[in-house]
Amino acid sequence: MSKQNDFSCSKCSAAWRKSESTNCWSVDPKNKPAKPGNCPTRNHAEIIKESFELYKENTEDARIAKVAAQVEGLGYQSAAGSDAINARWTRVEDTIAFAKFMKYKKIGIATCIGLLDETNRLAAILDAQGFKTVSVCCKSGSIDKLELGLTEEEKVRPNTFEPACNPVAQARLLNEANTDLNIIVGLCVGHDILFTRYSDAPVTTMVVKDRVTGHNPVSVLYGQNLYYKRLQKQPLLRDK
Ligand code: SF4
Repeated sequence: MSKQNDFSCSKCSAAWRKSESTNCWSVDPKNKPAKPGNCPTRNHAEIIKESFELYKENTEDARIAKVAAQVEGLGYQSAAGSDAINARWTRVEDTIAFAKFMKYKKIGIATCIGLLDETNRLAAILDAQGFKTVSVCCKSGSIDKLELGLTEEEKVRPNTFEPACNPVAQARLLNEANTDLNIIVGLCVGHDILFTRYSDAPVTTMVVKDRVTGHNPVSVLYGQNLYYKRLQKQPLLRDK
């Protein structure tokens, strides 16, 4: 990677900790921190400008950009006598508002089999909010995992029947159903990639699969200074 593409916005966390601002976000632009050497905007003004021009066109992508920004604004509320910002809406509420403003009518849910109950609760909320929902489970079709070329030892429970996830089928079934928006509920890493790649409708995620943390992977990042320090000290997997 050339040095000028060696971006690391993550390093601006130090500036944020110090002054709650960065060069790209400051409520007091006159006193904003300097642009660091690894800032992606340093050598790529054209990419930034050209990308932003897309949002001014008469396209679904442009509407998504505008509506997402509107929902972002509605997700907060001011508190009397304070300049602190207060969160108002959950992800479920953000998603409802986004879909309403986009005038979407039919919402598809691509669900993990382990989250059927949560998907049913989500569908009940979306139905109550006036959407038509359809949902497709990852194991639809129940095709043996061995057909993927896996060995018995690579199954969750060796020597039992185990169906493979089929995220391309989930996407294609929701494409057949002509959904306006698709929501991922707990698809595995990788399966979510394939689902997103094959979905005709735009895709958002309600639940990211994390079997250990109750689907809350950021908890690993919060615990990094102690409980998950091992992930900075030793490789998870040995190179083969
Ligand atoms: S865009 Fe530049 S200023 Fe903003 S976070 Fe990234 S490196 Fe920092």
